[in-house]
Amino acid sequence: MNLIDGKKIAAQLRNKLKVEVDSIQKKFNRVPGLTVILIGDFAPSQIYVRNKEKSAKEIGLRSEIVKYPKDVQEKTVLNKIDELNKDDDVSGILVQLPLPDHIDKQKIIERINPEKDVDGFHPHNVGNLSSGYESSVPCTPLGCYLLIKEIEPNLSGKKAIVIGRSNLNGKPMAQLLLKENCTVTITHSKTKDLKNECNKGDIVIAAVGIPELVKGDWIKKDAIVIDVGINKTEKGIIGDVAFEEVSKVAKALTPVPGGVGPMTIACLLKNTIDCFKRSLK
Ligand code: NAP
Repeated sequence: MNLIDGKKIAAQLRNKLKVEVDSIQKKFNRVPGLTVILIGDFAPSQIYVRNKEKSAKEIGLRSEIVKYPKDVQEKTVLNKIDELNKDDDVSGILVQLPLPDHIDKQKIIERINPEKDVDGFHPHNVGNLSSGYESSVPCTPLGCYLLIKEIEPNLSGKKAIVIGRSNLNGKPMAQLLLKENCTVTITHSKTKDLKNECNKGDIVIAAVGIPELVKGDWIKKDAIVIDVGINKTEKGIIGDVAFEEVSKVAKALTPVPGGVGPMTIACLLKNTIDCFKRSLK
């Protein structure tokens, strides 16, 4: 079994992006910029945002965090987004989720200029992705896609089973695989006989949030299995895939942690640079 080393592949991607930022700096005498808006004091969000800033700076991007207290008015955040939309030094804007209840998530997402939407959540980008056009793609499924392509560059005709249909993971994942000419099945909590569906997959992507849901006998021999799940348990952080069992049948499998996770931030950096490049067109 090939253990898909997300840490290593993410480091290679970051190195490539650093070279790209250096060459942008030489050519245009400026660098792409990422601004993250962080609202409130939710500890995991603070850690994610700090890691995003650190990674952005390491590859030479301009990086800024705008912090607001948890009781900030929605209007204040919307006005800030308007300001960032007009700022030529800002290539990408990300509003860290989750948001406090009094702030309308969809309103915030739709206020971001789609050309600066590094999360790929704006309906404009969602539509472009589903139409097969160029767009920002949500970072986690983009990371999964790049990992799959490392193992199998030609995905045409492969049968892919996506478990989970969230806007964040399952749906964009399915669109990316469809674009690669996979035959895609999207499954969810109402799917009947999930085991039988998974058994058909040359590629299985689990993005559910249930520890070790996907068992060894759900997986076809030599399938590629991508585990998006991050579940805090007494055993520590584990994925949606029963790692030991599945590793005996799969051709390639991502570990948790160290698989998809590191790719998510690397893809945010990639999206920021891609937004900058599209702004030049
Ligand atoms: P989500 O919005 O809660 O969606 C979960 C999906 O799983 C839903 O579509 C749900 O179906 C489906 N589901 C629930 N129970 C199921 C079952 N028994 N069988 C089949 N499908 C089932 O979650 P998410 O935001 O996509 O995140 C999924 C997991 O990925 C979580 O563990 C999260 O922590 C992790 N994650 C990891 C990263 C990373 O960087 N590695 C990034 C983001 C999220 P319904 O639609 O029918 O409810």
